[in-house]
This record gives sequence, C-alpha cells and structure tokens, in this order.
Amino acid sequence: MATYNAPIDDMMFLFEKLRNNAHYNELEIYKEVNSDLAKDILEQAAKLTENLILPLAKAGDETPAIFENGIVRTPPGYKEAYKKFIEDGWTSLSCDPQYGGQGMPKTISAFFDEMLSSASLSFKLYSELSIGAYNCILHHGSDSIKKKFLPNMVSGIWSGTMCLTEPVCGTDLGLLKTKAIEQADGTFKLTGQKIFITSGDHDLTQNIIHLVLARMPDAPAGTKGISLFLVPKIKVKEDSSLGQRNGVSTGSIESKMGIKGSATCVLNFDEAIGYMIGPKNKGLASMFTMMNLERIVVGIQGLGISEIAYQNALNYSKERKQGNSNNSQLTNGADIIIDHADIRRTLLNMKSIIEGERALSFWLAQETEVSLHHSDNKIKQEASDIVSLMTPVVKSLFTDMGMEITSDAMQIFGGYGYTKDQGIEQLYRDNRITPIYEGTNAVQAIDLVFRKLINKNGNIIGNYIQLIRKDIEDNKKNNEVRFFADKLNQNLKILVDFTSWIEKSMKNSKDDVSAACNDYLKVLGLVALGHSWLKVLDISFKEINSNKKFYEDKIETAKFFFNRVLPRVDMHYQSGTSGSKNIMNFRFN
Ligand SMILES: Cc1cc2nc3c(=O)[nH]c(=O)nc-3n(C[C@H](O)[C@H](O)[C@H](O)COP(=O)(O)OP(=O)(O)OC[C@H]3O[C@@H](n4cnc5c(N)ncnc54)[C@H](O)[C@@H]3O)c2cc1C
Repeated sequence: MATYNAPIDDMMFLFEKLRNNAHYNELEIYKEVNSDLAKDILEQAAKLTENLILPLAKAGDETPAIFENGIVRTPPGYKEAYKKFIEDGWTSLSCDPQYGGQGMPKTISAFFDEMLSSASLSFKLYSELSIGAYNCILHHGSDSIKKKFLPNMVSGIWSGTMCLTEPVCGTDLGLLKTKAIEQADGTFKLTGQKIFITSGDHDLTQNIIHLVLARMPDAPAGTKGISLFLVPKIKVKEDSSLGQRNGVSTGSIESKMGIKGSATCVLNFDEAIGYMIGPKNKGLASMFTMMNLERIVVGIQGLGISEIAYQNALNYSKERKQGNSNNSQLTNGADIIIDHADIRRTLLNMKSIIEGERALSFWLAQETEVSLHHSDNKIKQEASDIVSLMTPVVKSLFTDMGMEITSDAMQIFGGYGYTKDQGIEQLYRDNRITPIYEGTNAVQAIDLVFRKLINKNGNIIGNYIQLIRKDIEDNKKNNEVRFFADKLNQNLKILVDFTSWIEKSMKNSKDDVSAACNDYLKVLGLVALGHSWLKVLDISFKEINSNKKFYEDKIETAKFFFNRVLPRVDMHYQSGTSGSKNIMNFRFN
C-alpha cells in the first residue's frame, strides 16, 4: 500500500510567507484566521487523512462500490470513516457559519482538498460534490431553499451531486433532453436520464440533493434553454424532516478503470419533484458557479495524487539497490537507485512541478476569496477575472502533470510499480479520470483561448502578464533572484508573442487557433508556475538563515524548474504556432 505524510511544512510555509496578497489581507472575515489556527487544522487534517482515509484507497480499489437489489453500497470501511468525518466537522470546514459551517477560507480548505486527494480520491468524492452543490445553492437558491437544505448538507448528513451528463451529451450540454414541467404549486416534475453521476447514490447519507440541468417545454434550443433544479432523493418537508421517496432511482453503476470506491451512477428521473434554482433558462450560468470552483478542486486532485506518487517514489529510490552510479564509492554490491542521475532528474521533475503547483493554487485560493468577499467591487471583479482565466489552466495543467508524475513514479518502481502490491499503478489509474471529468482538458483549453483571454471585462491576459512583469522587475533588483527573473522574462516574452499570434490568427483562421489551444494553455500554465517559483525564491533568499535546509532545498528545486521544466514553454510555442494545415489537411482512412 502507498504511504503518505501530509506536507504540512510546505503548506505552512505558503500560509505564513506567501500570504502577501494585499487585497486578501484586507478581508475582514478572515482576520482571525492566523497561523496557529491554520497549523492546528492542518495537523488534525493530516492525522485524519494519514490514518483513517489512506487505508480506504486500497479497500475501495479491491472491493469497489456495488449496486445490488436497487441499493448502492460503498466499499468496506467507508461508512465508519464517513461517520467520523462528519462528526469531526470536516464537511463544514469552508461553509458559511450561518448554515452551521466553520467559515474557513480556501487558503486552508484547498490544503485539505489536497490531503484528501492524496489519501483517497474515491472517498473524497462523496463529500466533494456536496460542497459544490452547497456553493451553487448558496449563491443562487432562495432564502427558503437555503434554510431548508443547506444546514443538513453542511453537517454532512445529506450529500449533493451535479447532474449534467446524459447519454447524448457530455461536452455539448445544448443537446440535453431531461424535461421539467411546471406544476400549479410552483414546483416542477423532472423526467429523463442522467449518466456518470458521481455519488449519485450511496449508503453514507440520509438524503442526496441532486442539482439537475433540464429543459422546460417552451425553452429555446441549445444552451440558452437550460434551467437548474434541486431534486432531493427523498422529499423534504418544510421543517427539513424527511418525507416520501421522490421519483429518482438508480439504474446501474459504472465499472471503471480507477476511483473504484466512488459510485458513478445512472440516475433515472421519473416525474421527480424539483425546485428551480436561479432564473429560468439561465441554469448553465448558475451551474457554472459550482463548476468553476469544482474545476480548481479537480486540479488540486491532480496535485494531491502527484504528491503521494512522489513521496512513494522518493522512499523507494532510497531503498532499492541496482547497479553502480558514476560516482559510486562501492567496491562490491549495488548503489541505491537515487544515486543514478536519471532517477534524481525524475524525482526533481516531480518535486519542482508539485511545489510550484501548490504555490500557484495557494495564490489562486487568495484571489478566489478576494473575488467572493472584497468590499470594493472593482477589486472583486479584477480578482474574479484572474480566477476565471486561471481556472481552466489549473484544472488541465495539474491533472495532465498528474499523469506524467504518476507514470514517472511507476517507472521509478520498475516492475514493482506496474504490479499491484505497492499501490503505485492505482495512483495512475485513479488520476486518469481527472483530465476527463468536469469538462475535458481539451475543452478547458478551448474555453481559455476563445472565452477567457479577452472578454467583456477587458484584456484579462494582458492584465495578468502585467502583474507577472511587475514581479519580474521587482525581483531583478535582487542579485540572487535576477538569474531566475531573467529566465522567467524570456518565457514571458514567448507568452506575449503567442498571445499576439492567437489574436491575429483569430481573425484569419479559427482552425489555427483551435489547434494551438492545448499548447497555449501549457505555455500560460508553465509561466504561471515560474511566477509562483519566483515569489518562493524571493522569500527563500531573504529568509535562508531562519531555516537553512528548507530554503536551500527550495532554491535548488527552483534551479531545476527554471533549467529543465520551463524550457518546455518554447517547445509548446513552436508546436502551437506551426498552424493547422499539417492537421486539417490530413486524410484519415
Ligand atoms: C468517473 C466519472 C465521473 C463523472 N462524474 C460526473 C458528474 O458527477 N456529473 C456529471 O454531470 N457528469 C459526470 N461525468 C461526465 C464527464 O463530465 C464527461 O464524461 C465529460 O464531460 C466528457 O463528456 P463525454 O464523456 O460525453 O465525452 P464527449 O463530450 O463525447 O467528448 C469526446 C471527446 O471529444 C472531445 N471534444 C468534445 N467536444 C469538443 C470540441 N468542441 N472541441 C474539441 N474536442 C471536443 C473531448 O475533449 C473528448 O476528448 C463523469 C464521468 C466519469 C467517467
């Protein structure tokens, strides 16, 4: 079984030293959230994930969720762990105190998301979608809906889902067919089938609150005619007590490559009673509140799985002995494989990407809080623009890197990585869904390039480039950081050139742009990681004497990143700007 130690030192380093986002620090609601509180929460979270949740990963993989006699049963140990999980208040961590939440910022809950993803993604998914559904209801539900449904979702005795996908539509939601007919009392009857619904049914909670996209009979075709409905598995009375079973049933659950402990369900809605959330025909916009936050969390899933893969590969490489390294001191016998240059390169590749991602997502968590809670609307909007720009980047880059890192971890284990005993191949299989769900990574890249760079709020990418440029200029003044600032500057210029190329090509050839989206997302993502590393380096050089080993490690890891990972930017630029003729003119047989 894979082992795991939550990386609290790195998380606390970010929380204490990189919490220098001025607008975040202006937020009144988080004034009390200091380092002691953060450390206490992270230490409790570490105990929970290392001891209680981690063993569920193997249990769920070996004994997946099952569907028998119309009931979905979770793997052994899940029920007991979930009971403890909600008794200790973990579902309520980031929720509004008005509904029983603890009101912690995403700067803390994102670390908890990472720990849970490392320990067991399957187990995590049972509460993850509940938080997504909670966010959507909080932002778009009426007061009476919030009062009736949110407290039990926050406490975790009810869970939530998001029901978008149908047999005919995954990416293209404009095709969806589920019908909603309005009733005389203002409720709706929903009929249709949803597939691939994560935690659509299970035995962990008393009720499940489905958020369902459906179409009213008079709705316009396509995405402009979609409304959002809250449909409980069991009807809920005015006082929030449970009533009769609603018209929602489970058809089957999927047999899958990974995340086998998570129940992925076919749900049939047969005149199920639902309540409209948000305005008629604007359901997709409301659902996007949930999906945008959720997409960042999916990126963090990739980060969490990468972290546990790295930790296990590192430990193994310090034990496994094979061959002699170039600098071997041995006259007899083999060296541990971490002495070989290529193993060291692979480990540093993982570490430098993971720590850069953690720093980037910590900064994004601050920006998300500013976008939700700042009192100045202009600052709020600017933060919201940055979050919307970076959401597809974090979702895609972190999950794609998760594939690279879990594959490399397997490689370090050699044959023992491919076989099941060490639990490494499971990390690869579990991570494989993350580039697919919540909108495939290809679609994220299209969203980034066609909708997020420049939109009605202005030149968002230009503002982001400006922000990086300013940090580069500031850091150039510092002799120790200048080398890194210069390297980042070279790559920022490539991002600027690529952005101009996209703008020009948008007028001449949409195919050229479509064929470049994936490369562009990678360029922006790698530059964003470089920017995060620059901030880490600034602190590391300044504070080196306070914690020498920690900061020297950071500087050495950054050197690897700037010399060996950042050059991928140029490769993606060359590939992305080569045009689409080499793709579109090919005749597949
Ligand atoms: C384990 C699991 C859990 C899931 N959980 C949920 C859930 O809780 N709720 C829910 O609603 N759904 C869920 N899904 C569904 C998931 O979000 C969809 O599978 C995903 O959005 C892709 O849709 P699709 O499978 O229909 O693929 P398609 O949309 O058919 O896409 C097929 C391929 O075509 C590409 N493609 C599609 N459109 C374009 C385009 N315009 N340009 C370029 N390429 C394109 C895609 O990138 C993909 O590579 C889950 C799926 C799985 C497997």
